[in-house]
Amino acid sequence: MQTTDLEIQNDIIKIIDTFENLLYGFAYIGDISSCKFKNTPYAITIGLPLSPTIVDEIITGPNQVYYDEYCNVNDKLDLITQQLKNEIDKKGYLAYAIPSSKRTDFVNIKGEFPHKAAAVRGGLGWIGKSSLLITRKYGPRIRISTVLTDIPFQTNDLVGTNYCGTCKKCVGACPAGAIVGNLWDESLPREKLIDVRKCDLWKINNYSQFHGHVCGICVAVCPHGRKKA
Ligand code: SF4
Ligand code: SF4
Repeated sequence: MQTTDLEIQNDIIKIIDTFENLLYGFAYIGDISSCKFKNTPYAITIGLPLSPTIVDEIITGPNQVYYDEYCNVNDKLDLITQQLKNEIDKKGYLAYAIPSSKRTDFVNIKGEFPHKAAAVRGGLGWIGKSSLLITRKYGPRIRISTVLTDIPFQTNDLVGTNYCGTCKKCVGACPAGAIVGNLWDESLPREKLIDVRKCDLWKINNYSQFHGHVCGICVAVCPHGRKKA
């Protein structure tokens, strides 16, 4: 008997459910991904929380413990997306596991796929004024990753309600002055939220011991993460 697409989706959910605290969502992203991924218009987003006690310690800037946690969670996500990709390969469908944190476009400062866009459509949360994904469960204290595939999933396709409201904690806390302070919606270009060059330069100039990869102050101050923590 042939396996249906829904059965494959349920098999994927069973694998995801074997991992503790793993958030997930399914979304159609064919209208927002690049030509490279035109044959894989469906996304599985997975997300793992960062340790709340570690994040609480970086209100004034990152430390080695936070950097290690950031790298560990990214590595775990990359192992899980690889496992999901292998499973999809076995079913005879296309799949790409997009690394959780890998810059491929150094001019425009971005990776090969916008994880956050798929996460929002998959119902994980909204994009905060800080340009971070803000989840209902962990606020921005989370790392995410994506598998792209041609399996026609039943998708959530929910663009989450934006609960930033009048809050501007991240705007005031950003030492680089990089966060503009606008409320996000799907039509808003990234530069209306954040000056990524300012953020990048701040990290490179001030936290070179972490290779300019992390700062995390806007992650730590967001009330949506703090109250959950
Ligand atoms: S990571 Fe740091 S520099 Fe970049 S936007 Fe957040 S608070 Fe500002
Ligand atoms: S700190 Fe406030 S404004 Fe910034 S992302 Fe969090 S809720 Fe939104």
